[in-house]
Amino acid sequence: MNEVYLQKMNQKETNETLVSLRTYALHNNVPIITYEGIQFLNQIIQLRDVKRVLEIGTAIGYSAINMVMNTTTDVVTIERDEAMYQQAKENIVKAGLTSRITQIHADALQVDESTLGMFDLIFIDAAKAQSIKFFEKYEVCLNKRGVIVTDNLLFHGLVYKEVRDRNLKQLVRKINTFNEYVVNREQYHTFIYNIGDGMSVSIRKV
Ligand code: SAH
Ligand code: MG
Repeated sequence: MNEVYLQKMNQKETNETLVSLRTYALHNNVPIITYEGIQFLNQIIQLRDVKRVLEIGTAIGYSAINMVMNTTTDVVTIERDEAMYQQAKENIVKAGLTSRITQIHADALQVDESTLGMFDLIFIDAAKAQSIKFFEKYEVCLNKRGVIVTDNLLFHGLVYKEVRDRNLKQLVRKINTFNEYVVNREQYHTFIYNIGDGMSVSIRKV
């Protein structure tokens, strides 16, 4: 199978709402999930018959809108940035999806997780340096055999390279720490995929 054939089969977004959100994100440097990444996530949702997703990191609402448009799940999504939260709100209203997406405007480290109910899948896609904290804070909201997906673990391959810039180096080290942490959590079956910007899938054993 050659590249051209693969590209043709894996057609890009055609849905008008999603195309326009992706175009906006591209032009405004909003780091939304890759096309391949969201297909992967949506297939996990479908394979597991996921009915409730908790998303940490809404940005403009692209991933949340994509999930509810293409699967039967509902989404609760947390965003700390006021401007992002408002933009996502507009996009969700415009798409007519307010009944299936619940937005929470807060720092995910400050939310009382006991008020959220239980989820079949948790999608961690916020501040990369805080991924372990999010994982440990929200796993109590995960149903038995639930799944935790984390995005941006390979950081454009930088994890494996020599990084000079000090701040970047710090971030890369923190992502590395998370990667090691997550594959070593005994209660989960975890694998890190080279999809999009690197995504881990952790399936809770019980
Ligand atoms: N999931 C989105 C992209 C999210 S980008 C998509 O793929 O379409 C990451 C977002 O996480 C940013 O908007 C940032 O403001 C938010 N964020 C970072 N740290 C956060 C925190 N501690 N609590 C809530 N949101 C956070
Ligand atoms: Mg991401």
